[in-house]
Amino acid sequence: MTVHKRDYYEVLGVSRECGDEEIKRSYRKLALKYHPDRNPGDKEAEERFKEAAEAYEVLRDPQKRQIYDRFGHEGLEGTGFRGFSGFDDIFSSFGDIFEGLFGFGGRGARSRARQGRSLRYDMELTLEEAFTGKEEEIVFHRLETCATCGGSGSAPGSTPKTCTTCQGRGQVIQSQGFFQVTTTCPVCHGQGQIISDPCPDCRGGGKIRAEKRIQVKIPAGVDTGSQLRLRGEGEAGENGGPPGDLFVVIHVREHHFFIREDENLICEIPISFVQAALGDTVSIPLLNTEEEYELDIQPGTQPGEVVRVPGKGMPSLRGYHKRGDLYVKLTVKIPHKMTEQQKDLLLAFAETEKLSLSNRKKKPKRFWKK
Ligand SMILES: [Zn+2]
Ligand SMILES: [Zn+2]
Repeated sequence: MTVHKRDYYEVLGVSRECGDEEIKRSYRKLALKYHPDRNPGDKEAEERFKEAAEAYEVLRDPQKRQIYDRFGHEGLEGTGFRGFSGFDDIFSSFGDIFEGLFGFGGRGARSRARQGRSLRYDMELTLEEAFTGKEEEIVFHRLETCATCGGSGSAPGSTPKTCTTCQGRGQVIQSQGFFQVTTTCPVCHGQGQIISDPCPDCRGGGKIRAEKRIQVKIPAGVDTGSQLRLRGEGEAGENGGPPGDLFVVIHVREHHFFIREDENLICEIPISFVQAALGDTVSIPLLNTEEEYELDIQPGTQPGEVVRVPGKGMPSLRGYHKRGDLYVKLTVKIPHKMTEQQKDLLLAFAETEKLSLSNRKKKPKRFWKK
């Protein structure tokens, strides 16, 4: 069910044919009249203020105005238009229109609570540490609310004085011919208050740079680019706003033996041609030192063959106790030198294959001779 909405032209008190300037002027007049700073706690004024903002939002926009003219409120709903959720929403959209209003800023910088900055901490891990997870104390610096003055900037026992230049509004109006220009107060820099007796610890800033130590728990399976968000561990907020967050960004170092591809591990194991031909078992050291994997090499393994070992890769960040796979590439080594006995054995083997080796004949063929 939709609540009955007043006609936007009626709300702003303008005709359907009126121009943009008239709409803007009319809205400014209403915004000033129903401004929440002038009507604290007045629900009726609040509704009028919101209603006017919504009407202005639509009528100042040629596209929205056209839809509204043709299809009314329902037409706008069809486009996903939703009006405003609250004052902050209105001020952030139309802050500029309040700039020129007599004595009324959008809202003084003083009252605007802002979240503190988020921080980034880069952490380097070995592949082993990424495999097992890690708990580590990190040390970093951040701006914290000064404990001595509680962030006010004034020395204990004293209070900030209202700025006499702007009467606490944070903004001043200057006349330039016909125009009235509103600018940030140069004396208090928009704070509306002046600290006469600054806090000795933060020298009036309300914040101090402090060293912070936090125990961070890195889960098993993190990869380069993984981020841990520690809520509220960033810098202190402004004017009572919440603190920012701390992001721990992970970098995993390259490993001398394993190559990582997401949750899988890849390694290369050299085996002798005899092992490849006859089969064998080789032991592969895994990333957690206690674990070794006994890999069965099948008789007749070909050079470069890749064996997949399920569940012996990296732990998965997504699934509990799940792990990726291990891929073992088997490279076959051919001996550089052999004893006479070994050569004889291989020649005997060659004979069983009816293989006559050219370089074992009286006159060897030398294709490669220049
Ligand atoms: Zn202080
Ligand atoms: Zn001032």
